[in-house]
Amino acid sequence: MSAVCGRFAPSPSGRMHLGNIFCALLAWLSARAAGGRFVLRIEDLDPQRCKPEYARLLEEDLSWLGLDWDEGGQRGGIHAPYYQSACGALYEAALQKISERARVYPCFCSRADLHAANAPHLSDGTVRYSGRCARLSPGEAEALRQTRRPALRVAVPQLEIAFHDLCRGAVKQDLAAECGDFILRRSDGGFAYQLAVVVDDARMGVTQVVRGGDLLSSTPRQIYLQRLLGLPEPHYAHAPLLVAQNGARLSKREQSLGMDALRACFSPEELTGWLAFLAGQQASPAPVSAGALAARFSWARVPRADIVVPQELTGQP
Ligand code: GLU
Repeated sequence: MSAVCGRFAPSPSGRMHLGNIFCALLAWLSARAAGGRFVLRIEDLDPQRCKPEYARLLEEDLSWLGLDWDEGGQRGGIHAPYYQSACGALYEAALQKISERARVYPCFCSRADLHAANAPHLSDGTVRYSGRCARLSPGEAEALRQTRRPALRVAVPQLEIAFHDLCRGAVKQDLAAECGDFILRRSDGGFAYQLAVVVDDARMGVTQVVRGGDLLSSTPRQIYLQRLLGLPEPHYAHAPLLVAQNGARLSKREQSLGMDALRACFSPEELTGWLAFLAGQQASPAPVSAGALAARFSWARVPRADIVVPQELTGQP
C-alpha cells in the first residue's frame, strides 16, 4: 500500500447532506486513486451540537454509498481515539508545547467585544482579532481572571503562509493581516477546531486533507500550528462548495438534500453518478460505483468555483 493517507472528518451535528457526501466522495477517491489508506475521524468536539446517533448514521450513509475506511469510527484502529471528544489530553499536551514556542495569552473579550462595529471583517465572514487582550498587563489580566474565564489565543507573527492546493492551485495568506491572533482554547474550556485538527491529522499519519472550500481560510492557521509543533504538512485540496439555486450554502436543515431524502430517491450508483458528474469526473450523471471512479479520478477535472445543485437532485420541478 502507498504512503498516502486521506481522511474524512465530519462533525456529527446532523444527518449528512449532499455537500457532506460530495466532500466524502472526493476525499475517498483522492486517497484510493493513489492506493492510499482512508481514515474516518469523528469531530465531536462540541458536546452541545454533536450526537452519537448522527455519528452512527453517517457511518451507515458512507457504507451505503460504497465508501469504506481502514480505520476510525466504530471500526477503531491503531491510531485511536478517532472521536475528538476523547482526545482532551492530547490537545492539552499540544497546547502546552505551543505555549513554549509562541506567545499564548488569555483573552477576556466577549462576543460583543469581538464584533464591535469597527472590527475588520475577513473574507470568510469572521472578524480579525484586534489584539486587545495581548496588550493587557499581567496585573490587568489577573484582575479580569477574577470575573471571567478567558479563552486562550496564540499570537501570530507578520508571516505569509503559502501552500499549493490540489484543487485551487497557489494559495497564500498573511497571518497577521488576514487572520490575527486566534483561539486555541475557548472560554468554556473546549479546544478549538484549529488545534484539534492539526494534532489529529498528524498523529493519524494523514498526508492529504480534502475538505470543503469553506475551510480554505483556516488552512494557513493550521500550517502555522504544524510548524510550531514540528509536524509534517499534509497536501491540501479544498473542494468547491455545493450551493442552492439562490447561491446559499447547503445546510443540514435542508431536508430535500439530506441523506434521508436522497436515499429514498436514488440508488447508491445513481447518487454517485450525479456527484461524479458535478465533480467533473464524468460527462453525464450516469450511474457509477465509487470503486469504478477511483481508477480514473483526477483533481485537474474538479471545478474550482461553487457548484449550483441541479434541480433533478433537489426534487423540485
Ligand atoms: N469537522 C469539520 C466539518 O465537518 C471538517 C474538518 C476538516 O475536514 O478539517 O466541517
